[in-house]
Amino acid sequence: MSRNLAGPHYISGLIFGGISGFGITAGAHRYWTHRCYKAKLPLRIILLICYSCAGQNSIVDWVRDHRVHHKFSETDADPHNSNRGFFFSHVGWLMMKKHPEVLSKGKTIDCSDLLKDPLVAFHQKHFMWFKIFFCFLLPTIIPPYLFGETWYTSIMAICFVRYVVSLNSTWAVNSVAHFYGNKPYDRRIRPVENAGVSLFAMGEGYHNYHHTFPWDYRAAELGVSLNVTALFLDLFGKIGWAYDFKVGSEDLKKTMIKNYGDGSYHGRIEDAKVE
Ligand SMILES: [Zn+2]
Ligand SMILES: [Zn+2]
Repeated sequence: MSRNLAGPHYISGLIFGGISGFGITAGAHRYWTHRCYKAKLPLRIILLICYSCAGQNSIVDWVRDHRVHHKFSETDADPHNSNRGFFFSHVGWLMMKKHPEVLSKGKTIDCSDLLKDPLVAFHQKHFMWFKIFFCFLLPTIIPPYLFGETWYTSIMAICFVRYVVSLNSTWAVNSVAHFYGNKPYDRRIRPVENAGVSLFAMGEGYHNYHHTFPWDYRAAELGVSLNVTALFLDLFGKIGWAYDFKVGSEDLKKTMIKNYGDGSYHGRIEDAKVE
């Protein structure tokens, strides 16, 4: 069994972890849920494959849960309502029946835009096959076939360690980023800024900003600092596969910081500081 820390299973795990992260952050979250930018066909195919690597719920389920989360944040209708505790918001919500309010309010959320895209409709129909192939089979067979890794090590590294780390990174946005951090943009809501979450979740930890300006493709004010997803999207923007990026307006941001921030904002805008 390979015990090399830079062995192919770790490298493969890191690469597939990054690819699946991009599918969640740039795909399910910033593209399909919030429509923060437009994407051409080649990028939409890449996002679909990356999303499949993550092995999470179907795109329609993911998007509906997240749209409900934003619209009914921290209420019984929020699927991972953080008022029900850290564990519930992290993973507990996936272990039990949904609250009746989640189901009834979920039905009021319009997700009809998703299946209008034939790619998403195809993915939805064959979702389980995409998940099995891209999340488990493909990443597991690469280290043994290409680099001579043992099957045991590859299965443990890819199907367990990589999968667990990647799921927990996503879940940390719903738990840690609703509990531990500051609120420079809106102190009235629970989501906070947490750089640690951003590191693991590829830029999704600036959650106070994101809940205040959910349409911003960077999901953060300062672009690429610990925000690998914004960096990737900027690269796709340069080749024209991503376009019509939305960002939060400077004026609205200043107003929010002045009127509703918790005073922790240390940015470039002098007059935005709370007196
Ligand atoms: Zn949130
Ligand atoms: Zn969001």
